Amino acid sequence: MTRTNLFTSLLVCLVPASAQQNFDNVQIHVEPVQHNIFMLVGGADANTTVQIGSEGVLIVDTQYAPLAPKLMTEIRKLSPGPIRYIINTHIHPDHVGGNAAIAKLAGSDPALPLKIIAHENVLNRLTETAPGQPRFPEEGLPLDEYGTPTKKLHFNGEAVIIFHEPNAHTDGDSMVLFRGSDVISTGDIFVAGGYPFIDVEHGGSVQGEILALNHILELAVPAKTQEGGTYVIPGHGRVCDDADVVEYRDMVVIVRDRIRDMIKKNMTLDQVKAARPTLDYDTEYVTKNSFVTADRFVEAVYKSLSPSQVRSSR
Ligand SMILES: [Zn+2]
Repeated sequence: MTRTNLFTSLLVCLVPASAQQNFDNVQIHVEPVQHNIFMLVGGADANTTVQIGSEGVLIVDTQYAPLAPKLMTEIRKLSPGPIRYIINTHIHPDHVGGNAAIAKLAGSDPALPLKIIAHENVLNRLTETAPGQPRFPEEGLPLDEYGTPTKKLHFNGEAVIIFHEPNAHTDGDSMVLFRGSDVISTGDIFVAGGYPFIDVEHGGSVQGEILALNHILELAVPAKTQEGGTYVIPGHGRVCDDADVVEYRDMVVIVRDRIRDMIKKNMTLDQVKAARPTLDYDTEYVTKNSFVTADRFVEAVYKSLSPSQVRSSR
């Protein structure tokens, strides 16, 4: 399957069928997170992080294109300032879909240009178009791409550090640390209340997923009371903290270890699925609307742990 076809199929599979026709009914809710950081949520769709201040507005992820006007309406209630940065955490259309529409609605001021930032693997994939497939809108491309382990900005009075997390949810994942506000926006590396979607076809792997989750925990500092401290905005779901990420990381590690042991016993994917290595977690991480079912999670972990990788890790 071409990458563009994959992009189109992801658009289909990341949105529940009912939601595809129902963007009109989606309401965007604004949740203050900490200091000058806000989380904007539309139904079950991806989270958008917004940082506001005297220099303008920085946005992490733009949801689907049809939601852009509603997103901008809410952003404008928070700040009338210029939209200066969009950061895309990865390629999936529920995170980059609104780029062009937001850029258009933001207007253009040559003195205060909007920069769209993502890891270079995101730009590369968005510009690869198969014949007959629509191109990703030029004005929404992350042309301020980076290929280094980190990219640093100083904006609205705080350091904003973008980390590339290799081969985790995809091969182009960025996490954004707002160092002054003490907030981390993780993209889909971390999803509250659902198994991670490890997109193996787009370079994701369970090993990279675990390293990225551990990196969140290196950066996050819990408050003395356990609640609070660094806040973590997941790709989907509620605002979390250090303790939530610890629990999630532990779950992924335990499931990875179980499946690795099964692969060492030469069990096939079907046998591993039948053994239900996630069973004790399924009630917490799977609902009837889950995009990542237990089988899909197991399959992604299994594919990540090819026999050659299992042997080399012994
Ligand atoms: Zn995603």
